Amino acid sequence: MKRVRNWGRTVAFSPKAVVQPRRESELVGLIQRAAGEKQPIRVMGAGHSWTPLIETPGYLLRLDNLQGLISLQPSRSEATLWAGTRLYKATRLLWREGFSLANQGDIDQQSLAGAFSTGTHGTGKAFGVLATQATHYRFIDGKGQIHDVYPDADPELFSALQVSLGLLGVITQLTLKVEKAYYLHLEKRVIPLEEALENFSHYLDTYRHVEFFWFPYSDRVGLKLTQKSEIPGQTFFLKRWVMDGLWENGAFWVLNKIAQYRPESSPALCRFAGRNMGEEVRIDGAHKIFATARWVRFREMEYGVPADAGTEVLREIDKWIRRHQPAVSFPIEYRYVKGDDIPLSPAQGGDRVFIAVHAYHRMPYEAYFKGIEEIFQAYGGRPHWGKMHTASPAYLAQVYPQLPKFLSLCEQYDPQGVFRTPYFERLLWGERQAVSV
Ligand SMILES: Cc1cc2nc3c(=O)[nH]c(=O)nc-3n(C[C@H](O)[C@H](O)[C@H](O)COP(=O)(O)OP(=O)(O)OC[C@H]3O[C@@H](n4cnc5c(N)ncnc54)[C@H](O)[C@@H]3O)c2cc1C
Repeated sequence: MKRVRNWGRTVAFSPKAVVQPRRESELVGLIQRAAGEKQPIRVMGAGHSWTPLIETPGYLLRLDNLQGLISLQPSRSEATLWAGTRLYKATRLLWREGFSLANQGDIDQQSLAGAFSTGTHGTGKAFGVLATQATHYRFIDGKGQIHDVYPDADPELFSALQVSLGLLGVITQLTLKVEKAYYLHLEKRVIPLEEALENFSHYLDTYRHVEFFWFPYSDRVGLKLTQKSEIPGQTFFLKRWVMDGLWENGAFWVLNKIAQYRPESSPALCRFAGRNMGEEVRIDGAHKIFATARWVRFREMEYGVPADAGTEVLREIDKWIRRHQPAVSFPIEYRYVKGDDIPLSPAQGGDRVFIAVHAYHRMPYEAYFKGIEEIFQAYGGRPHWGKMHTASPAYLAQVYPQLPKFLSLCEQYDPQGVFRTPYFERLLWGERQAVSV
């Protein structure tokens, strides 16, 4: 049996079979067969989630053969793509046709459906989770029926599909609102943490996308301010590869290796890294500015907290770190996401500040993540579904008021629980343990 691992090396399992269908009709047959055999199905995008969302003892579907642009509707600024299309492929295909995505996260390796289904986000006052760009989904439910779903015709099902964790069925196609191709002007500054926190709302009002990286123990942050540029620009591939890839990631890898073997040096290493983060100004095609290279493997936990609590939560994290002195060698990321009304979106009901803590994958992380998670939960934070967390079903039910509505749609579209694995039974159905596959 083939062993499957995720990017973060936090999930490893042996499914009964890995299947890579080429047509929707094959998927229909497969879902019906799995239901008959009582074998749970999960779909894997790029395996870039840290939580065991893709783990199954049954069939693992990979949609790598269902990639590419299906159609463009330039008059409506919409594009329909196969759900398995990787983000880097989608953005290049769109760029060639004169379009860009309105917003992206900080890597582009994920599949469209995988990124959308977990509430993946970028940053910016005007931008919600990536799934808010969707205007249509085609999916195959647990009975093998194909549905085309539009927000006007079926708003409840549509919003449930936007962040569905693959529990309603297999998404095969999605239509996105796109923008005319544009360039972004990126400015990276190193400034004091206090200044970043004090001015964050001003930056949000002034720039299209804003975020910062803060090395614990340090008083500096690497601030990223991004604006649309009327002037085109381009950084040559080799220069980007050497600067962003080889230099930034290479130096960072060395730092993490030192921390791994000399954990007591972590505070000094963080202060050193904080002082030496690079500053730069660059203009490039939007998709090339959004996406960064992540060559050093890590674990991550991220919660979205109510936007007005963001500063306070970060100060609490700072206090916790200074009190407990964990061996950390990765920065903390601070972003902003516009609120929405998607039942399972971490930004449901209002704007959220997303704070992410990371740990080098070869270093202990449990006590650090646990301590910070308690702070997140004290402020009613919601975990990113694809990133590490230990939120209980009771806690999730409390912070996701529309969870019952979502679960009843799961019962309706997947009555046999074909897409439900023990992980999801524990995570969302909690005590009920109604494993029907
Ligand atoms: C290095 C790195 C950087 C990251 N950066 C960000 C970031 O900037 N912002 C952010 O918010 N997140 C970020 N993430 C998290 C990541 O975006 C999410 O975990 C995302 O879900 C991964 O997409 P994937 O294609 O790998 O999906 P997978 O992890 O393979 O799957 C995710 C979920 O989607 C479901 N799914 C996949 N395809 C389908 C389909 N066709 N139909 C139905 N369900 C489907 C799966 O079953 C699963 O439940 C990052 C992760 C990594 C490893």
